[in-house]
This record gives sequence, structure tokens and C-alpha cells, in this order.
Amino acid sequence: MGRMALHRLVIVGGGFGGLVAARALRRATLDITLIDRRNFHLFQPLLYQVATGGLSPANIAAPLRAILKRQTNARVLLAEARGFDPVNRRVHLADGHLDYDSLVVATGARSNYFGHDTWEHAAPGLKSLEDATEIRRRVFSAFEQAERETDRARARARLTFVVIGAGPTGVELAGALAEISRDTLRNDFRRINPADASILLVDMSERILPSFPPELSEKAAAALRALGVIIRCKTAVQNITPEHVLLKADDHTEQVFAHTTLWAAGVAASPLGKALADATGAHVDRAGRVIVEPNLTLKGHPEIFVIGDLAHCVTGDGKPLPGVATVAMQQGHYVARVLEARINGDAEAKPFVYKDPGSMATIGRKAGIVHIGKWCYSGYFAWLTWLFVHLIKLMEFHNRVLVLFQWAWSYFTFNRSARLITGEAQSGDHAPKELPHH
Ligand SMILES: Cc1cc2nc3c(=O)[nH]c(=O)nc-3n(C[C@H](O)[C@H](O)[C@H](O)COP(=O)(O)OP(=O)(O)OC[C@H]3O[C@@H](n4cnc5c(N)ncnc54)[C@H](O)[C@@H]3O)c2cc1C
Repeated sequence: MGRMALHRLVIVGGGFGGLVAARALRRATLDITLIDRRNFHLFQPLLYQVATGGLSPANIAAPLRAILKRQTNARVLLAEARGFDPVNRRVHLADGHLDYDSLVVATGARSNYFGHDTWEHAAPGLKSLEDATEIRRRVFSAFEQAERETDRARARARLTFVVIGAGPTGVELAGALAEISRDTLRNDFRRINPADASILLVDMSERILPSFPPELSEKAAAALRALGVIIRCKTAVQNITPEHVLLKADDHTEQVFAHTTLWAAGVAASPLGKALADATGAHVDRAGRVIVEPNLTLKGHPEIFVIGDLAHCVTGDGKPLPGVATVAMQQGHYVARVLEARINGDAEAKPFVYKDPGSMATIGRKAGIVHIGKWCYSGYFAWLTWLFVHLIKLMEFHNRVLVLFQWAWSYFTFNRSARLITGEAQSGDHAPKELPHH
């Protein structure tokens, strides 16, 4: 059969959903094109380790071409998708277009500032490798600037870190920041004591990690407090500038002088969701996710699938599935099954069902929480479970031996050897001109 006659599948996005779909179709008689604007797959669950100097960017990113090297029915195209023409079955790229017979859109999510887009500069989110290295730059620069500061109040502000959002990412960031200040940087400075740093974890909800059972939230909060993290729940953020954060709890407002504020409070779908909805008549929810049919296609467009963080997929209990990698991966496998059945002329697959493998989070290097079905546990064993699961997952696409080695090394030496300050300093975060004396 000539290549022209093959069914053309275009997958937009080489994240967890898109990449799993492509790989699951490795034996299918299809012509697959995987489009991504980055040339690598990113293991986002470990971004916080890059942001805090525990791992290097290359440890958590793998070139898409390398992953699909031996898969001869697939090719990778480095390109940015901009829009869709569903009538002519065409994807518009920033620099051209591509025709498809079936389309999978899996472009994920981005940070959501809930209408306060001006906060983005003062409080970067953690979604990309660039975000992670920018956070790393800010965190380690803060200690450098505090060391040079002659004014006590200003030095305090340099050593105050505010993490907004107490979901797994916020908790992991706060835990790692505490570890950096208490362990990693101990004895590194002469004028300041890094352990004097204040780390605030702020959230609007009643408790941290609200998606976990209350007893696990409680355990996680205790572990964070033991590391010296200050937890502020039921607290709203009213304003963020490069120098301070304005918090409000009940009727009380508080201005916190902090030079490093990090945003982990929420995500919205990639803007491509709206473009797809406009072109196809599909609907998007408030977070910009495309509402999909039970088989993950769009109404009236059985040839278009939307999966992963970009999809609003409702399950039996009426709630949309969470934006987690396990959902995206299971959806990628499901789409592959549907397409294979169609190509082979088999019956359509049953609607997508998510099998929840459980969820977990870590707090620093010794504690974690795990929730699997009826099982809940916390502590060191939970931390080990987290490490094990993440390494197994990382193994699917990445160079895990190196990661394991680097991790073991930083664990036993307390060292975060990837704590490099790279990238440009921004206006407003320059160190004081006047140098202190010993
Ligand atoms: C800091 C952090 C920690 C997380 N921790 C966990 C965890 O512990 N466990 C868990 O299950 N989940 C976790 N998640 C969530 C998980 O990473 C996402 O649910 C998952 O990545 C979603 O997969 P996806 O395929 O939908 O999108 P993504 O993996 O985000 O992939 C989207 C891809 O699309 C590409 N793309 C975007 N726009 C375009 C465009 N216009 N043109 C071309 N390409 C484009 C991107 O470059 C990217 O490669 C975490 C997320 C973050 C940010």
C-alpha cells in the first residue's frame, strides 16, 4: 500500500496525552504526525525539582525525536498550531498547514491568574522549563541579594518567600524551599543565615491539599510546619507586586514584604481549545477546556479527539476529570484503541472510563502522602512510594538512570547541585549597590 493511501492522523501536542496516543499506535497502519512547538516531552510532575535546583532541565525532558526514533509510522514536526479548519480537515500552523483524516488535540494547560494577568511578572507560575529556571534564578538570587543587603528590613524581604496555592505543586515547592534554606544553603553564606528565611504557603481553601482526605491534609500540614513553613489557609491574595503581597483573611488585610512570590494557584486550558471550539461549534468551560463526548470526540466531529488537560470530560458522578497526567495517559491509550478499531472495521469502543490509580504528594525529602482507593498513608514510606512511582513513570520516556543517580546524590549529600543562577536579572531585582562589610 502506498503511503498516500494511509489514514493521516495528526496529533497536536507531545505531552502525556499526545505522546501516549502516538506510541500506543506504533503497530497501527497509519500515517502519524506529532506536532509540538517544543522539541521535547516534559515530565511536569518533577518541574518543582528543577525550580529548586534538585534536578537539571535535561533530567526531566526528553527529545520527541529520540522517543519516536524507531516508530516508523510516526514523524515529528516542530511547529506551533494556531487554528483549525474542520471542513477541509486542516490544522493551521504558525508557518503553514497540515491536512488530516483524524485529529487529536492535546495541548494541555497554562497558569491561570484568574483575570489578574499583571501578577504574572511578579509571581511566575510553574508550567514550563523556562518557568522552572526562572523560579530557580529568583530563589537563589534572593539569598545572594540578602547577603549584600545592609538594611535589615530589606534583607528580611529578600528572605521571604510566598507560595500561592496549596495543591500538590504549591506544597512541593514550599517543602523544597524550606529544605533549601534549612539544609542545602547551611554554611554557604557569611552575613545571613539562610535558615532565617520565611516561607509562607497561602490558599483560599479551608485546608492545604483539598483534593486529598482531611487526615492526609493534616499530616502534610504537620510535616510542612516541622520544616518551618507558615501555612495561611482561608486567605485570599488581593495584590502582588515585585516587593510585596497583600493578603486578606476574614476582615483582616496584611501586607507581606516578599521579593519572591510563586504562583501555584491554578491552570487554564491552552488557548488552542477556544480556537478549536470556535471552529467546530464545541463549547468550552470556564477554564477554557473543550467539552467532549463520552468517547472524547467533539459533537458532530467523530474524527476530532480532545484529550488531557485541554478536555472537559465528565464521568459518572457528573464532575469533570482532574488535570493530571494519569488522565491524559489513559485518554491517549483510549484514543489509540478507538482509532485502531475504526481502521480495522471493528465495533466502536465503549465510552472512556477513568481508572483512578490514586494520588500523592511529597513534602521535602522525608515525608509524603498517598491516597489510593481506601488506602491513606503518610510519612517516609509515602515519600518512597512517591519516588518509586515517579521513577517508573519517568522510565517510560526518559533517561532514568541518570536521574536516579543525581537524586541519590542530592539526597545523601543534602546538596542541590543544580542550583545555578542562569538567565537575565529583571529590573527591580538588582542587588543593593552599597556593599556591606564583613
Ligand atoms: C508543576 C506540575 C506538577 C504536576 N504534578 C503532577 C503529578 O504529580 N501527577 C500527575 O498526574 N499530574 C501532575 N501534573 C499535571 C500533568 O503534568 C498534566 O495533567 C499533564 O501534563 C497533561 O497532559 P497533556 O498531554 O494534556 O498536556 P501537556 O503534558 O501539558 O502537553 C502539552 C503539549 O502541547 C504542546 N503545545 C501546547 N500548545 C501548542 C501549540 N499551539 N502548538 C504545538 N504544540 C503545543 C506543549 O509544548 C506540550 O508538549 C503536574 C503539572 C504541573 C505543571
